[in-house]
Amino acid sequence: MLEIKDLHATVEGNEILKGITLSIQPGEVHAIMGPNGAGKSTLSAVLAGRDGYEVTQGTITFDGKDLMEMEVEERAQAGLLMGFQYPVEIPGVKNIYLLKSALNAQRAARGLDEMPAPEFMKLIKEKIAFMKMDSSFLHRAVNEGFSGGEKKRNEILQMLILQPKLALLDEIDSGLDIDAMKVVAEGVNSLRDENRAILMVTHYQRLLNHITPDQVHVLIDGRIAKSGDRHLAEELEARGYEWVIEEPAA
Ligand code: ADP
Ligand code: MG
Ligand code: MG
Repeated sequence: MLEIKDLHATVEGNEILKGITLSIQPGEVHAIMGPNGAGKSTLSAVLAGRDGYEVTQGTITFDGKDLMEMEVEERAQAGLLMGFQYPVEIPGVKNIYLLKSALNAQRAARGLDEMPAPEFMKLIKEKIAFMKMDSSFLHRAVNEGFSGGEKKRNEILQMLILQPKLALLDEIDSGLDIDAMKVVAEGVNSLRDENRAILMVTHYQRLLNHITPDQVHVLIDGRIAKSGDRHLAEELEARGYEWVIEEPAA
């Protein structure tokens, strides 16, 4: 589903990603861990096609297509969806309208009519109940005054509504208390599906007690220094990152 080969990328002329190679198959969940400033968010931003990131070398293929040839909107419509490390506030735009317009834009791109209002309401009620969110959320402006935990739940709610093929989740566990983390993890787990892949950046192994990744990658200074299964996350939790730097990938 996603094939990254020798990806190099710069931000304001500084090389941040220095040759990343990563392959994600449908149905898989990959976790990216690594110290601050390693380039984790840069990788997500490059995949989502955000402005200010220049790919200088390498290739990215998504569902057989050259991702670098696709505009941001095309990527979203093709099913690559990113949640944000610091989800943006959109003053004055109610959350429910954003969800509805995003869903209908996606349907339009697939040649489908708008989802009828009663069907949409049924869908959204089911998903907000699942995320243990209050329905008043829907009528608040997007992220305005949302706590950190509420933003994260809202991010997963968007994923549950839009059902991306590839979900990119950056620091999905930051600022969550234990109960909120469990709800967010259940949301992510409910997204797991044989046709969907999830790439998530996380700082702490504890999230991975709730979401079992197929692969864990350690990103250090713009390169994947080590990959492994979920046990690698446990080892990182116990030993930190220094040893990975000292014993680079075999
Ligand atoms: P991580 O998410 O792993 O903590 P980032 O991808 O956010 O790391 O950042 C990697 C490096 O790139 C950092 O040194 C950061 O300062 C730099 N960087 C990221 N975004 C920008 C930007 N917009 N302008 C300048 N430097 C940036
Ligand atoms: Mg290289
Ligand atoms: Mg980051």
